Amino acid sequence: MQRYMPDWWALPALNDNNKAFFTSGKIVVQTCKSCQTAQHPPEDVCHVCQETSFDWQTCSGEGVVYSHTVVEHPIPGTLKDRVPYTVILVSLNDHPEIRILGNPVNIDPNKVEVGQKVKAVFETIEDEKAGVTLKIPQWEVI
Ligand SMILES: [Zn+2]
Repeated sequence: MQRYMPDWWALPALNDNNKAFFTSGKIVVQTCKSCQTAQHPPEDVCHVCQETSFDWQTCSGEGVVYSHTVVEHPIPGTLKDRVPYTVILVSLNDHPEIRILGNPVNIDPNKVEVGQKVKAVFETIEDEKAGVTLKIPQWEVI
């Protein structure tokens, strides 16, 4: 699918913690091997027990809009042709305590509402500098 933001918009800087999230083409959450806590964004240490070994849990990719905002003012000014756009925070059905940022791709920015059901879709982007294919999650209202 086409990128929600312009092609020149920054890409995620991959590291060992976030690579699966940005390249798997699925909604995956980091899960502590010791206490089974799921956390996002993925980090070096479990927020609950401070262990450092994790698995990845594949989620359904469905959730609800927990919060949203419409960006009307272009910061930086180079986004003047892209506004208005919407940023949403999605609460996952599999882990309601986990919230993932993104953009709703199939709805007018002013029609987004808290509680709308969404499912993940993925922007496929070749990051030639990093030598990887990114699968950036975005959200379709269903
Ligand atoms: Zn833990």
